[in-house]
Amino acid sequence: MGAGPTGLTLARQLDRHGVPYRIVEKSAKPFDGSRGKGLQPRTLEVLDDLGLIDGFLAAGSPYPGLLAHLPDGGTHAFRLDELHAPTPAVPWPNMLMLPQWRTAELLADGVPVELGTGLTGLSPLDGGVRVILDTGETVDARYVVGADGGRSTVRKLAGIGFEGETHEEERMLIADVRVTGLDRDHWHVWPGEGRAFRLGLCPLPGGDWFQLTAPPSALTPAELVAAVDPSITVTEVGWTSEYRANMRMASRFRAGNVFLAGDAAHVHSPAGGQGLNTGIQDAYNLGWKLATGSSAILDTYEEERLPVAAGVLGISTRLHRRHAEGADDALRRDDPVLRQLSLNYRGTTLAVERRPQPGSVRAGDRAPDSPLADGRIFDRLRGPHATVLAFDWTSPLPILPVPVHHVAEAAGVYGTTGPTLLLIRPDGYVGCATHDVHDVLGYLDRLGL
Ligand SMILES: Cc1cc2nc3c(=O)[nH]c(=O)nc-3n(C[C@H](O)[C@H](O)[C@H](O)COP(=O)(O)OP(=O)(O)OC[C@H]3O[C@@H](n4cnc5c(N)ncnc54)[C@H](O)[C@@H]3O)c2cc1C
Repeated sequence: MGAGPTGLTLARQLDRHGVPYRIVEKSAKPFDGSRGKGLQPRTLEVLDDLGLIDGFLAAGSPYPGLLAHLPDGGTHAFRLDELHAPTPAVPWPNMLMLPQWRTAELLADGVPVELGTGLTGLSPLDGGVRVILDTGETVDARYVVGADGGRSTVRKLAGIGFEGETHEEERMLIADVRVTGLDRDHWHVWPGEGRAFRLGLCPLPGGDWFQLTAPPSALTPAELVAAVDPSITVTEVGWTSEYRANMRMASRFRAGNVFLAGDAAHVHSPAGGQGLNTGIQDAYNLGWKLATGSSAILDTYEEERLPVAAGVLGISTRLHRRHAEGADDALRRDDPVLRQLSLNYRGTTLAVERRPQPGSVRAGDRAPDSPLADGRIFDRLRGPHATVLAFDWTSPLPILPVPVHHVAEAAGVYGTTGPTLLLIRPDGYVGCATHDVHDVLGYLDRLGL
């Protein structure tokens, strides 16, 4: 339910697993705002797995440096984060900027979204869920996923609480504007009195639009811009919204056969650019589990994603506070956690670490990329299947129901010692790490493979 970035990613996942689905979207037309404009490195890896990375890299741009226009007429250039060089393990180390409408458009290509169709009712059925749509149609489904945003109807109908804080007084105007008289090489910001934030204009890739942000005011976007620099003219105002500081999380991500994902499950401050990315990761985690149809595997969705959402909520709330307090480095975004590469599911049910001396990459961790004599690890993992990576393995292996690749060249990146098997889940996390093939067989059995 819902065709934002979360629902669309889930639809793509279900599609390639061959799971029949319907995706309904209340709005009659696709979303047209720039809103969540930052794609984190881990999201780029998901897009690579989905076969979409080239289109995203072509459409997006690196984050530009910031240029502060100081009250005394001077300027000060700085960056949100340093630019990182790619490494063998991390091919896309930097955030990619892309307006949310374009992210959704690229994700939606080929997805049969039913626009202008909202969910209004939900009731449990034996082995499924009955859904009522505002078209009057009743649909009996095995599972329902509420990817219907922060005000989620699915969450309310499922009776799941949404705990946290809303700060009505902390608001931000956000608008897409076209301007003349301003270069597109920088994200321009104008500090006000003290260190208060007065106005920001960020050039968006793929056109001549800027994303304007400012504390709410009685002035129009054009007047706000003219007030900081009369030589800049706003020629057009597009999507406009007022953001309210809202930091909340669902108390459960599953109720029977109903699941919550994305903003329906957690809303964050935009500080740190985590919301859309976390929603895409939720969908990526849930998609293959729905395909297994196993209730025990589906239980691991909440087990894995709820703590991640809580962690992200904590960090984006801290960044939000620093911004609200006007801290010196309030705009810095150099905490590596924000790139979502180090998020892991260590110690959870599906993370089976059997080695007495685990290497640097353990069960539950993201499987990093690494060059191979013939291609790279991500080429081997791409697709909806689980994969076995065999390091320094010379003894015979039984026939396994998943692809097996001998990848001794990647032992350095993975920190393996001696003959080792790593079972990589369909979503690119290490499921089982072992020196004994029977552990892999047992794990595959659990996944129903
Ligand atoms: C100012 C701002 C800046 C942001 N910047 C970033 C950023 O840089 N990086 C980042 O990661 N995130 C950012 N975010 C957050 C990001 O926009 C959201 O996290 C993201 O949109 C969540 O995607 P979603 O698919 O879960 O939900 P949504 O995008 O809200 O999509 C939910 C969809 O469900 C539909 N729907 C609602 N009710 C129903 C119903 N009953 N039936 C059917 N459909 C329904 C809605 O119409 C909507 O299309 C920002 C947010 C704001 C406000």
